[in-house]
Amino acid sequence: EKAEIAVTGLAVMGRNLARNLARNGFRVAVHNRSQGRTDALIEEFGHEGDFTAAADLPALVEALETPRKIIIMVKAGEPTDAVIDELVPLLDKGDIVIDAGNAHFLDTRRREQALSEKGLNFVGSGVSGGEEGALNGPSIMPGGSKEAYDSLGPILTKISAHVNGEPCCVHVGPDGAGHFVKMLHNGIEYADMQLIAEAYDLLRHVLDLSPAELAGVFREWNTGDLESFLIEITADVLSQVDPTHGGPFVDVVLDQAEQKGTGRWTVQSALDLGIPVSGMAEAVFARSLSGDVVRREAAAGVLPGPSSSSEKADIDRDAFIEDVRHALYSSKLVAYAQGFDAIRAASEQYDWNVDLGAMATIWRGGCIIRARFLDRIKEAYDRNPQLPSLLVDEYFKDAIANGQDAWRRVVATAATAGVPAPGFSAALSYYDGLRAERLPAALIQGLRDLFGAHTYKRVDAEGTFHLEWSGDRSETKS
Ligand code: NDP
Repeated sequence: EKAEIAVTGLAVMGRNLARNLARNGFRVAVHNRSQGRTDALIEEFGHEGDFTAAADLPALVEALETPRKIIIMVKAGEPTDAVIDELVPLLDKGDIVIDAGNAHFLDTRRREQALSEKGLNFVGSGVSGGEEGALNGPSIMPGGSKEAYDSLGPILTKISAHVNGEPCCVHVGPDGAGHFVKMLHNGIEYADMQLIAEAYDLLRHVLDLSPAELAGVFREWNTGDLESFLIEITADVLSQVDPTHGGPFVDVVLDQAEQKGTGRWTVQSALDLGIPVSGMAEAVFARSLSGDVVRREAAAGVLPGPSSSSEKADIDRDAFIEDVRHALYSSKLVAYAQGFDAIRAASEQYDWNVDLGAMATIWRGGCIIRARFLDRIKEAYDRNPQLPSLLVDEYFKDAIANGQDAWRRVVATAATAGVPAPGFSAALSYYDGLRAERLPAALIQGLRDLFGAHTYKRVDAEGTFHLEWSGDRSETKS
């Protein structure tokens, strides 16, 4: 009997995805450029299910029933194109090629276009949850045609994570939609981690709490609205003792955050769409700053901080912890609202028709940003599918109304204490900008008209206007 689905690319992700498929009863054909990984998979895990090992791509294609379904799980970028180019001449109309790597959504759009012209289905699919997720149930964000999803969906939903019996896999939309949403997931993950890091930093510096004490704070927070995978593992990392010398593990880790690039892609894409994603942007910038060793060395101990830390002594420990919890939650709500804005904008720009509420359900299990709070997003879009911003939904509005005074105190304390909190403060500025009835953008328009005759619109009349700044300052309508 021929295999139902194939995986090519058997590094950590591909191998675990293939095992997940086999463990769920699917007949899986497997292939890797260098045969060693294929042999290792069969030798170690062959007993887990029905595997067919293929030595090359023609053999892989030959092993499959039609329409063929081939998952590519290789290094993103050129390697993916190389595999597609080799695969395409071997395929027949109606076959389905799935790129489950971390492709840029614009590459996915290009590949989908090229393959659909040949009568092939191309499904760019986000897969989140790292190696553990790939094996035991990832969050899956497939794009591509409806026709492709009709035959692929039953397989993907079966191997995905499940929450309350519901699969964390939904057809996101055509062409690049799946990879766009996966990219946004990673951008939100950056923002989430930055906000958690700021909460930790503030509590540690303002209250002089030890990492072990802070682990307790995060563990406590994980029983409420903030309950999430990232808060849970924050407690684990903070309570970890350095296995080499003892003492807090977090204090021996080099404080330079690395990045593979999906956070940067998210911010770049949002800039192109004109959507402010300040939470994610500040998170990317903060990682860049952490890695900017030359300038940090030049400035550390040289640039002065606040002259007095007198306020520190007056701070009530429990009250400040509670304030920081509110600041973290409110900032997180803003970061998600911004992320969903970017998905909405991309969906409009590329005609994807993405169901925003469903995106929150995909992320409830299997992925890094899984959290109790995602149910609140789903409920918000159920209440109003046309919601202009998550922040105006009643749950979000009330949560921030409850927490905003605390949030403002935390941002003020951060500034006075000289502790960087770019995520908290950018989120608060966004919130205040969004709710403002008048913005100083009016002044900017005036400046632009003065120096560049860029024109302005009026609050009280239709049309476009210009002032004769260098002449008699009369107004002309164009
Ligand atoms: P890697 O990204 O490390 O890629 C290694 C695999 O790519 C190997 O199978 C390798 O084959 C193959 N490969 C590289 N170049 C070529 C080429 N030119 N032609 C054919 N095959 C090639 O593997 P991962 O498992 O970490 O990730 C796979 C994909 O999943 C990536 O796109 C990644 O971004 C994405 N991803 C990874 C996650 C993770 O946690 N690691 C999470 C979510 C997505 P060979 O053995 O012959 O060298």
